Amino acid sequence: MVRFARCNALLSLAINASGKGCRYVAKGASDDDVVKDMMEHLTSVHEVDLDMKANILATTKTHNG
Ligand SMILES: [Zn+2]
Repeated sequence: MVRFARCNALLSLAINASGKGCRYVAKGASDDDVVKDMMEHLTSVHEVDLDMKANILATTKTHNG
């Protein structure tokens, strides 16, 4: 079982318009792993320097299969 969150789902919450259409998907075995992965992506790619943890968790889902 894999937890994942799509960058796209966070775009309305992110402030950097350059993220439009981003297809990045953060994956992990736990919510913490997904948050860590996505935070690194948001920081390095979109230069979002905010605490997005709650927003990431709100969009994190479980991939079954
Ligand atoms: Zn992105």
